[in-house]
Amino acid sequence: MQPCLHFSVLSLAMLTAAQSLPAQAPAARYDLLLKGGHVLDPANGVDAVMDVAVASGRIAAVAKDIPEVQAAKVVNVKGLYVTPGLIDIHFHVGHGGAPLNWFAPDARSQLAPLGIPADLALQAGVTTIVDAGSAGADTFLQEKEEVIDHAKVRVLAFLNIVADGMNGGLEQSIDQMDVKRCAETIAKHRDILVGVKTAHYWTYQPWDAEHTPWAAVDRAEECGQMAGVPVMFDFWPRPERPYSELILKKMRPGDIHTHVFAQQFPILLPDGKLNPILTEARARGVIFDVGHGEASFWFRNAVPAVEQGFLPDSISTDLHHGNFTVLNMTEVLSKFLAMGVPLAELIRRSTVNPAREIHRPELGTLSVGREADIAVLEELQGPFSYIDCGYARMDGQAKLVARMTIRGGRILYDPSGLSMVEWRKAPAQYFTTPALGNSPRARADNYPRE
Ligand SMILES: [Zn+2]
Repeated sequence: MQPCLHFSVLSLAMLTAAQSLPAQAPAARYDLLLKGGHVLDPANGVDAVMDVAVASGRIAAVAKDIPEVQAAKVVNVKGLYVTPGLIDIHFHVGHGGAPLNWFAPDARSQLAPLGIPADLALQAGVTTIVDAGSAGADTFLQEKEEVIDHAKVRVLAFLNIVADGMNGGLEQSIDQMDVKRCAETIAKHRDILVGVKTAHYWTYQPWDAEHTPWAAVDRAEECGQMAGVPVMFDFWPRPERPYSELILKKMRPGDIHTHVFAQQFPILLPDGKLNPILTEARARGVIFDVGHGEASFWFRNAVPAVEQGFLPDSISTDLHHGNFTVLNMTEVLSKFLAMGVPLAELIRRSTVNPAREIHRPELGTLSVGREADIAVLEELQGPFSYIDCGYARMDGQAKLVARMTIRGGRILYDPSGLSMVEWRKAPAQYFTTPALGNSPRARADNYPRE
């Protein structure tokens, strides 16, 4: 008779509770409702004022006028843009560029680590980053265990064709470019590894028997074919290794040329017209990516190209320890906004396009059922100026900033408290003092924020 007794005690308790409340509030259908924002979701062709509802960490509804009573938390985002969480396919995390004992006196390089903390990306509305070859087959597991497994932002990666990754100049050793090991490592970690990267190979030294012009490109391509993934190219053209040959012959459809507006590429002909090889390469399926970086973005290439209708397929930062103080994803997007590119086109190139390029079409959308990765962005008007890597300035009239970043339904970035209550109106729990240092903190709400 135990279950019966249990039931009657519970019923009594429920009855008492019901009697003491004026009305039983129905359980909220949604955990979070972003109300009244301008939704830009190019993957679904949405460009309108809509509400976005989240339940159990996933997108639950995108519609006009979702009633506020259906949500446990409502955030007013009127006047702001609501987009899929941005995807930055060129980022650096981990130890790339330095050996693990880089701080020791006997380290073979005293370079600082190249990578920056992955979660810095959240400050710019980014919910997915792709490390661009900081690690190779020998160093990937270390990067995974030290960085990728702990990040709140989603971290994917291109694997460097060089087994040691970007480790103190070893990208020059052909015997480090082990095609089979690279492809096997990708096959083993397909949940994270989305492609192959080659970079920085033999850009100024004279050619020799080992260092032939196309060695790194050819090996990266071989690995890409073997593993069935795209290759991302960082490239320096030389007379024996012209850019036209890279994009018109060597690259396969779906391969990505990053750093497209760097100083070393013949983006314009001497008369200022767009080089027709770009259109020709695009027609055969080659992808062009920004990869702004510390030395890979010049207005003299970018502005005339954009004016002539050539927009990169994806926009990325190439953030690393050398540029993260002056750059992030919204800053790079702002440069294109200042060039007059419509915001919707920029969101397309930082959500659905990069998702397709890395063969992850489930990302970069606000489709119902997908993980709730969302950016809330604001477009500011006024005089704003921007810089390029040649220390030149461009003046503009617009700037994009991130106001809130949501990853898997959790609010991980909200520095102006869009989703928070004014402190005087906070419930009693906020005004309590925890007993111990490791007690749960006194919070104004219980919404997941970590
Ligand atoms: Zn890079």
